[in-house]
Amino acid sequence: MTHVFVSPHPDDAALSCGGLIASLRELGQNVAIVTVFSGSGSTEHLTPYQREALGFGSKALWPVTEAFNRANIPNDVGLGDEPLPPWAATADRLDATQADADAAAKRFWQRSSWYRRASIHNESLAGQPVIDQMSTQGAVLTVELTEAEAAADATATRRLEDERYAYFAEASLIVLDLPDAVFRGYEGDAELLGTPRDDDPAPVALLRSEIARLEPQKVYFPLGVGGHVDHQLVRNVGLAMIGDARRWVMPGPEWAGIVSFYEDFPYAWWNDFRSIDELREGQANGFGELPYDVTIVPEYANISDQLERKINGLTIYESQLPRLFGGSRQMADAVRGYGRKIGALGGLNGHAERYWSSLSL
Ligand SMILES: [Zn+2]
Repeated sequence: MTHVFVSPHPDDAALSCGGLIASLRELGQNVAIVTVFSGSGSTEHLTPYQREALGFGSKALWPVTEAFNRANIPNDVGLGDEPLPPWAATADRLDATQADADAAAKRFWQRSSWYRRASIHNESLAGQPVIDQMSTQGAVLTVELTEAEAAADATATRRLEDERYAYFAEASLIVLDLPDAVFRGYEGDAELLGTPRDDDPAPVALLRSEIARLEPQKVYFPLGVGGHVDHQLVRNVGLAMIGDARRWVMPGPEWAGIVSFYEDFPYAWWNDFRSIDELREGQANGFGELPYDVTIVPEYANISDQLERKINGLTIYESQLPRLFGGSRQMADAVRGYGRKIGALGGLNGHAERYWSSLSL
């Protein structure tokens, strides 16, 4: 059982739900983050606006453990023509060590009918994969990703930040890599923050199956405050899932009671979002058309103890902070300010995040 946070872009779950994620982990609950629109189209012909708007708006396994990626550890001593330091292995010494290791392996294995050779060089002897080259942990595409990052690929940068955050938060990360709205033909704020196009449907089937496979005890979708099309589409998946059981002839999975919605931070802060009633009365977003036996109720997560951890986690998203907040200090102020406001709305003496949870009547 796990708590699944559906994040339209890398950073949305951390921004909106970082406090609850930290609380859940402290309680020993499993957390999975599904990042939906993190993919790139061709980044070669991006206009400056597109490059900027990416900010708003393969599948990774477990968080990257870069400390164990040898490629990230520079040599202390150059490997050029300089003379070797006294402690460095020479070919002769390595051969001697290999011979010793072979003899030891032979002694160890002599009671069995076969013999394994030792390999101190960490090289493949018979074409079998070497453990260091297998991505059991960490980003499958780490080398490609870091190269792409070096080449200033904005989506690669954001994905790396997402993986670092998942590692920090002890969450597993599932990256769907659907192309960001700017790669699906949305141009300018009016389109990016407008109504999703008819030929750009919400990825309901894909997300439903990814989520169902995790057997979640709770799934958190964005409310779509701020109106970014990617956020709206992800929210619409949540709404569609709530309606699932009622559409099926045979009883289907009951998502009402499991699906919950989070307030998109910082957009909810900037818009002074107060209640889901603002969405019910607003543009066609589905909250006014829920099944008659489903209601949405606010739930307050007291994050006072996790507030600083949430802020620390957000500093990982270096590429986003300047554009979103102006800097990490302003980010911290905004997180504290919004947390205090929500805490007050919930009558809590402290900081809170608010979730709007579906409930079967
Ligand atoms: Zn977003």
